[in-house]
Amino acid sequence: ATWTRDGGWHDLAVVPYGPLSLDPSAAVLHYAQEVFEGMKAYRWADGSVHLFRPEANAERLARSARRLALPELPEAAFLESIAALVRTDAEWVPTGGESSLYLRPFMIATEAFLGVRSAHEVRYLVIASPAGSYFPGGVKPVSIWLSQDYTRAAMGGTGSAKCGGNYAASLVAQQEAAAHGCAQVCFLDAGERRWVEELGGMNLFFVHDDGSIVTPELSGSILEGITRSSILSLAEDLGHAVSERRVSVDEWREGVASGRITEVFACGTAAAVTPVGRLVSRDGELVHGTGEAGPVTLAVREALLDVQYGRAEDRHGWTTRIV
Ligand code: PMP
Repeated sequence: ATWTRDGGWHDLAVVPYGPLSLDPSAAVLHYAQEVFEGMKAYRWADGSVHLFRPEANAERLARSARRLALPELPEAAFLESIAALVRTDAEWVPTGGESSLYLRPFMIATEAFLGVRSAHEVRYLVIASPAGSYFPGGVKPVSIWLSQDYTRAAMGGTGSAKCGGNYAASLVAQQEAAAHGCAQVCFLDAGERRWVEELGGMNLFFVHDDGSIVTPELSGSILEGITRSSILSLAEDLGHAVSERRVSVDEWREGVASGRITEVFACGTAAAVTPVGRLVSRDGELVHGTGEAGPVTLAVREALLDVQYGRAEDRHGWTTRIV
């Protein structure tokens, strides 16, 4: 679909995948006026296809768009765009394992204008692509590199928006993580460099020896993950006390070393739930647990996937049938 300042949204259509034609002066190419979402369509055992909390993606895209001075796509238009694409590509929704049809809605400023102001012409598109299991060989803990030189987002910045610029700024930290043998990077707050924020593309949770589960509170510079919010509910359903509060990197280190923190896991649309096996930083390396996923991590993971794949009752009304 295209949006113009004078005409609003128009031309919603499902078209074959192919290259985009953009003017070299398109504002997005210069000033990164762009926002996106990541979500999945899941095939259930009976063959039907379902989305998981698509209203939450619509709401977050609208929130991100406001921060980037982009027009809001109304929820109904967002949901219709996703449903129309999934219906068209229904045969591409894979069957089995933890496979899915990954969906990437995004909005870009296409107006050819080199002055710095919000664009008067914008396009909204959705890509669909089949995705296999994130852990084909079984769930394995990941190693995390603690970024002490770079932060992902600052107060008043775009950290709580899902915009491309945040990810551009995180790539060098991601490279540093890879150079230290880590699959993920963990960012701290930009002010005191003390408070744990999130990973490059996932939110973090800490499981304590009394069964309580803690996740860093929304600081204004953390992305409000839809998986994070779902796990806060599911963990409570499973009988855990859950809380959102600030967690310092010292609490993380001391908690793991003393056994007060028994498991750490990360979550997001891509991997659902990933156990954290190691925290690596300039100050050394801290191994978590046994090298296998912990029982609470696995139980939360199963509870989430059971709803997404229709194997458990959808008590919270999170799934929407498309096909
Ligand atoms: N944090 C960041 C920076 C992310 O990119 C993502 C992935 N969208 C998440 C957290 C997890 O969000 P969600 O659960 O909505 O996928």
